[in-house]
Amino acid sequence: MSEIVYLNGEFMPLDAARIPVLDRGFIFGDGVYEVIPVYSRRPFRLAEHLRRLQHSLDGIRLANPLADAAWTKLMREIVARNDGDDQSIYLQVTRGVARRDHAFPKNIKQTVFMMSGLLTTPAREQIDKGVAAITAADFRWLKCDVKSVSLLGNCLLRQMAVDAGATETILFRDGKLTEASASNVFVVKNGVLLAPPKNNLVLPGITYDVVLEIAHAREFDVEVRDISEAEARGADEIWVTSSTKEVLAVTTLDGKPVGDGAPGMLFRRMHALYQDYKRDVMRAA
Ligand code: PLP
Repeated sequence: MSEIVYLNGEFMPLDAARIPVLDRGFIFGDGVYEVIPVYSRRPFRLAEHLRRLQHSLDGIRLANPLADAAWTKLMREIVARNDGDDQSIYLQVTRGVARRDHAFPKNIKQTVFMMSGLLTTPAREQIDKGVAAITAADFRWLKCDVKSVSLLGNCLLRQMAVDAGATETILFRDGKLTEASASNVFVVKNGVLLAPPKNNLVLPGITYDVVLEIAHAREFDVEVRDISEAEARGADEIWVTSSTKEVLAVTTLDGKPVGDGAPGMLFRRMHALYQDYKRDVMRAA
């Protein structure tokens, strides 16, 4: 079955979807997006994703083109029209089409695009052995809490990982851990789970929240606070989290083993709890 996408009010095959070259998403990267995992054909943490979408739209001063109920209906429809019980919905809103001028045009309609494909979660081997990460200076802008389609910084940083044969690039700004090129980062030291606080320098990850909720519910020792570069480099465990990676252990950092070089005890516990949580939530939905 060919992938069916949604563009500005219509469903169509992916190949048939077209946007004008003057779309400000194309010209300026002037838009925001969301990625929502779908399990058993039900979007996971939908309310939280819609809340973050609103936060991103507010961050770029763009009106939300749809009410939450309309987004929900559209998502249900796109999932029904595509293959697979587990999918990943991608949605994007740009400021729309106008003659090229940096200032916001008046009275134009947002471009709304949505697609959904098979959800690819980490392979068993990645879960069991962990993944490699490298580090870099976080040279992105100061509004990383906005899920902007202007992802050039993230793309450059992620490519550095690919070039080094690694999965992620973990970022430091002013001597502190922020996040990774496409995931949030947690650190474990002496049995304490450390998480950088949510602020303008990191994307407020939906998975980050789930992991912290589970950690609190299961009475892990948790500290949400700034993490220095030295602390991160001396960590017993490092995890990366995202909607598609879920929770993954980083077992080498810049080619050196993290802890003993294997996924740690706390990681293995959290990974199992995360899978249970997902199953329970979807069963209750
Ligand atoms: N940080 C960045 C830069 C990301 O791109 C992502 C997800 O793609 C995340 C964090 C994790 O966010 P979420 O858990 O909502 O997928």
